[in-house]
Amino acid sequence: MSPHRFLGFGFAAADLLLEIGDDGKVTFALGAGESVLGAPDRALAGRTWQSLFDVDDHPMVEAMFRGLDDGARAGPVVLKVAGDEERSANLTAIRLPQNKGAISCALSKAAQRGAAGLQSREDFEARAAELLAGATQELELAFVDVVGLSQQKAGSPDAARVDALLAGALRAQAYRGEAATEVGPDRYALVRAADEPAAALISRISRVLSDVGLEKIAPTSAAMPLTGSVRPKQVAQALRFALNQVLREGLKKPLPSSLSNALEQALQSTLSNAGALGAAIRQRRFSLAYQPVVNLSDGALHHHEVLVRFGAQGSPFPTIRMAEELDLIEPLDVAVLEETLKVLASDPTLTLAVNVSGRSVMSEAYVSRVVDLLRKSPSIKGRLMFELTESAAVEDLGLADRHIQALRAAGCEVCLDDFGAGAASLAYLQQLTLDLLKIDGRYIRDLQHGGREATFVKHLVNMCGELKVRTLAEMVETPEAEEAVRKAGVHYAQGWLYGRATEKPTPTLDAAVGRRFREGALSIRTAHDRQAPWG
Ligand code: C2E
Ligand code: MG
Ligand code: MG
Repeated sequence: MSPHRFLGFGFAAADLLLEIGDDGKVTFALGAGESVLGAPDRALAGRTWQSLFDVDDHPMVEAMFRGLDDGARAGPVVLKVAGDEERSANLTAIRLPQNKGAISCALSKAAQRGAAGLQSREDFEARAAELLAGATQELELAFVDVVGLSQQKAGSPDAARVDALLAGALRAQAYRGEAATEVGPDRYALVRAADEPAAALISRISRVLSDVGLEKIAPTSAAMPLTGSVRPKQVAQALRFALNQVLREGLKKPLPSSLSNALEQALQSTLSNAGALGAAIRQRRFSLAYQPVVNLSDGALHHHEVLVRFGAQGSPFPTIRMAEELDLIEPLDVAVLEETLKVLASDPTLTLAVNVSGRSVMSEAYVSRVVDLLRKSPSIKGRLMFELTESAAVEDLGLADRHIQALRAAGCEVCLDDFGAGAASLAYLQQLTLDLLKIDGRYIRDLQHGGREATFVKHLVNMCGELKVRTLAEMVETPEAEEAVRKAGVHYAQGWLYGRATEKPTPTLDAAVGRRFREGALSIRTAHDRQAPWG
């Protein structure tokens, strides 16, 4: 048969044909080199493959070439072309037994592809959903366990290279060389063509591991077919469910049988979470913890913040997030409020601040409930405060302000929580009439080092002064941070320096706090005296 006939077949699927010898150099090039790689084909012979593709993609190409048995084919993967941000190419490679170890490559122009290496979980979910929407063949979500890898890698000077090669090997196996991510320690996920045998995935990864001297590790894999009808919007949710299951349970538990099955299980689990959380709230299966807030003018206890706790779990944050997502935050805020009112009624010396989500503040029912409860217990007046958290949920600042004014009219001070983090921003300060503003902990931790945080805090305190809003600094962990916020003119402080959240409100502060304040006050007076003109 004429050689031209073979070239015809080659060019039917590709724009450029390359042969790479076992020294990694191009031994033959024919076709549209200029349009695919930005150099004419005759200029390609003798160049190394590394000089053709972007350095970020080298581990993938290396893993792809190393993993090729005689007669085996790999790809297509999408690569960035070296020295050209805009240019990407599809590469398919095959090693024919007759070719003395040389690798035959077919290249064509490709649309831009995403970042090299492994993706973050979020990017992976989003990219996998996009790939699935545009796929021309059946895909699967494959998982690879490489048990013992991090242990063997630890302390090895080659650790970074092992990571790069493994990422390359995973991407070389992924559909279009794209979506691959780390699910948990030594566990990876990728989207790949469903008709590729699972054994090929394992053997190619084993090959890369043994090349770097880690032959004792035996990778295992499992896959979930990405089939079934799922609306595009819900694909990421279904994928997330499968990824989370593997993160929690490893590969022991059977994977969902299809994408639609994963979605079904995801919805079921959401419903059962909602059911369980709803029941926990109704049955008051939570406790309250109390963290002291001190007055920075004299070091005296001002009030306690009430923080909810679920079981032995430390931070309630994941549960609060879930409650926000499942529309259960208002019943939770109401339940915490009712329990807090009982505590306030039982101890007339206490002042307590409860957190209230932006969503609850938007609710007519929540605010009337508070007003109603306070009317019935006059002894509590002036001793209940609110911290507005998750203000991202405030959709209508005008309505939120009317509700806040109703709470203030009922005798409660209102504080804007987490100012400077995410949503709680200047618009809130401008449109809400507030008593207090809590400066987010991220500004406080770095405050003592001066710099940008110090400038931010200083100006914020000045602005609040003009608006008649008092300020509170959270996450004050050290005497240096205390000194810095005090100097900036902040009114109150909260943080580990004064105490963590405890089961019972602490009636007095640590003696060290008082001592520091007495000494601090003394040194200020001495400084004043020295400056006095008659001194
Ligand atoms: P937040 O209101 O900003 O509460 C401060 C968080 O910082 C608390 O975490 C507290 O334990 C922690 N913290 C206090 N001092 C320090 C410190 O010096 N250093 C450090 N690193 N951390 C400190 P926690 O208890 O995990 O609460 C997390 C968030 O959960 C709260 O943030 C609040 O937004 C929310 N939350 C707690 N209870 C409720 C509730 O009853 N209702 C609502 N809607 N949200 C709540
Ligand atoms: Mg708070
Ligand atoms: Mg906060």
